[in-house]
Amino acid sequence: MAHISSNDPFLGDERADCYFCDAPAHAYWHREFNFCVCSECATNTLPLLIADAVTANNPKGTLDAAMEAISKNFYRGAAIALQRSNDSLRKAADQQKSAAVFDLET
Ligand SMILES: [Zn+2]
Repeated sequence: MAHISSNDPFLGDERADCYFCDAPAHAYWHREFNFCVCSECATNTLPLLIADAVTANNPKGTLDAAMEAISKNFYRGAAIALQRSNDSLRKAADQQKSAAVFDLET
């Protein structure tokens, strides 16, 4: 799972389209194929699919447990994604600092 950015190791510079609506995707899950999704469908379509999947195998009364697990995993995923973003920003800032030092030395 990752945000989509330029020079992505799995997507390269190709534009990735959302699996559900064909709009430009914002994130993807890399498996045998790249499952790409836009933020709109992640918010409004994926939860419906998840509800179908959860209710298919869960007897009545387990929705609260499923929602609790979904909520925990959502916040876990958000924390991982935000950490990755912070790491990318920090790396870019470090590269700019290195370039600035190099410019001063030449
Ligand atoms: Zn979409």
